[in-house]
Amino acid sequence: MQDSQHTQVLETLDFSVQQLQDIKAALDQTAILAVTDQRGAITLVNDHFCEISKYSRAELIGKDHRILNSGYHPKSFFREMWRTIGNGQTWNGEICNRAKDGSLYWVKTTIVPFFNEQGKPYQYISIRTDITAQKNIKKIAHIAYHDDLTGLPNRRSLTKRLENEIKNRERSGEKFAMFFFDVNRFKNINDGLGHKVGDLFLKEIARRLTEIDIQVESFYRMNGDEFVYVLEDVTLVDEMANRVMGVFRESFTFYDYEFFASISLGVSIYPEHGQSVTKLFKTADVAMYTAKEKKGNHYVVYKENMRGTNDRWLLLETKLHKALRNDSFELHYQPKVNIQTNEIEGAEALIRWTDEDLGYMPPDQFIPFAEQVGLISAIGRWVLHTAAKQIKIWADTYGVNYRVAVNISPIHIAEPDFVEQVKSIIEETNISPMMLELEITEMSMVDYNEELTVKIKSLKDMGITIAIDDFGTGYSSLSYLREFPVNSLKIDRTFIQDLTKDSSGEAMVSAIISLAHALNLDVVAEGVEKQEELAILKEKNCEFVQGYFFSKPLSVADFEKKIQE
Ligand code: C2E
Ligand code: CA
Ligand code: CA
Repeated sequence: MQDSQHTQVLETLDFSVQQLQDIKAALDQTAILAVTDQRGAITLVNDHFCEISKYSRAELIGKDHRILNSGYHPKSFFREMWRTIGNGQTWNGEICNRAKDGSLYWVKTTIVPFFNEQGKPYQYISIRTDITAQKNIKKIAHIAYHDDLTGLPNRRSLTKRLENEIKNRERSGEKFAMFFFDVNRFKNINDGLGHKVGDLFLKEIARRLTEIDIQVESFYRMNGDEFVYVLEDVTLVDEMANRVMGVFRESFTFYDYEFFASISLGVSIYPEHGQSVTKLFKTADVAMYTAKEKKGNHYVVYKENMRGTNDRWLLLETKLHKALRNDSFELHYQPKVNIQTNEIEGAEALIRWTDEDLGYMPPDQFIPFAEQVGLISAIGRWVLHTAAKQIKIWADTYGVNYRVAVNISPIHIAEPDFVEQVKSIIEETNISPMMLELEITEMSMVDYNEELTVKIKSLKDMGITIAIDDFGTGYSSLSYLREFPVNSLKIDRTFIQDLTKDSSGEAMVSAIISLAHALNLDVVAEGVEKQEELAILKEKNCEFVQGYFFSKPLSVADFEKKIQE
């Protein structure tokens, strides 16, 4: 601040000069300060103000404060603000401003009017703090719990809801119903009329559904064409099932296409058909498949004896057991590349499974299933062991020291002896713990607890690297990041996809990178497919990238070819 101007401001206050100097120093260090005259022209700014707005002092002094206007707030917002301070009162609020380079930032703002001898405000002091990170986190939270396409709450949101419903009813045993339904032959519509029509169709379904139950957040979109409805009053099951099916009695028209569609709907009821989220899903799924056998619009409430008629779950479970026993899983390795040098720094191990009857099963499908049927820890131990053996082989044969990252399920890490398991695998395979990285999803930390912190600390003390996977999708744990001794964050692929879509996608990635750097963590960007994405990430000082742009996950043989290159 220029001193002459400062003294001028300070003299108007009823403090000793020393006290005022102290207050000034304190404010100057922490807050973003500006003074405007009664018409709104800026007369004074501190360094923080220049930093955040990216304007120099010379560019600001004498200018109207609207130079920072972002266009975010309606005119009435500022009218109300001026009315308050014009009347001599203090105004508090959150303002979205635009910096010189076009980026947006949020400031929590207090504006204090100062009075002349006639008792009229003649200048205003604004004291601001930067709340951009908090605002972005809220946005991340919304994305994490909602489906992009339809705007409906998503699977994650549903799981939370069901857990709550169950917890609230544990004592009373009060019932609620879950509808699980999908569109019959959706694939035909999607493939036949194109994805564009498919997307419009799903959006329209969501719109019609929310019309039949205006209660917020009662319909959820799962994957693709699967939806869920939660009904608290089970006496309405028949009525509501008919209303949901009624949505499909009218035709759908997009562009020049008009068509009819139908659904198969399964109902499960808490607590009689399941007392856990998993069990409710399972029984609703069985009921839905029973409805499917009838063809056309149908709904079926789960019954005990359906278990025999539908053994898809049992089959998959048996297959997984066998695959473990016969060692028929495989690991592929996707290179992790240093963005500055373009060199391979490490790899992520990804499990692969091809069953003789079921064909290739993507991990996205069988891993959640293995978690539900209690097989995930055995699979996790197999993966850890196999990856460790591979680390040893690569070090011995090629003299390379690639750190290999292994995905760890939240269920596996929750086992009381998880740390011992890892320790004994490291000892048995005789590798350096520095060569091993564990990727845990943010979701593991949603149920943050002391025990988990202790585990992560002791793994880290052993020299193992810890990364947070799918960062940005499990928001509720963000505040715990500070307490978790992790090394890096992996930005979820969905954010990278948005990077080149619009400026908000880019802002989100920037926010995550600066958050990570503020916490001293490395950043790995996942799913980088385009040169363009890479360029933006480089500019934003992201450290590592993974993605098809550099390489798909590779079999051991192909990875070794890459090493030799
Ligand atoms: P993830 O941990 O987020 O792994 C990254 C996924 O993104 C992998 O899918 C990878 O093949 C894919 N990917 C990498 N680069 C690109 C890209 O540029 N574009 C696109 N579109 N995709 C890319 P994958 O192998 O199908 O694995 C899916 C998920 O299954 C993994 O997501 C992880 O959550 C889980 N998973 C895989 N292997 C294991 C495992 O050994 N244990 C556990 N617990 N989970 C695993
Ligand atoms: Ca991963
Ligand atoms: Ca990931």
